[in-house]
Amino acid sequence: MDQHVGGQVQDSQDKEVTIGKYKVKVVRSLCIGAASCVAVSPTTFQIDGEKKAVIQNGADTPENILMAAQSCPTKAVIVTDTETGKQVWPE
Ligand code: SF4
Repeated sequence: MDQHVGGQVQDSQDKEVTIGKYKVKVVRSLCIGAASCVAVSPTTFQIDGEKKAVIQNGADTPENILMAAQSCPTKAVIVTDTETGKQVWPE
């Protein structure tokens, strides 16, 4: 079980995946399993056994992946531009 529920500590399982021009990461301690990200981009996001989103390197456009991140009610999806190194979302 996650011992950092409600805390600021990021789960060590937070995995950054590079998809096209973006690096995408789900902060598991923020994810509430609302699955909006999955609804927007099912090729990129899936809900795992702990009811948290995991990223799979499926094919999707950067625009749609960003839209999926923006759909997350807890802003658990972090998107970084690989070229500039800048965080694109959350702003
Ligand atoms: S939309 Fe956010 S809270 Fe919901 S499953 Fe995706 S990452 Fe988790």
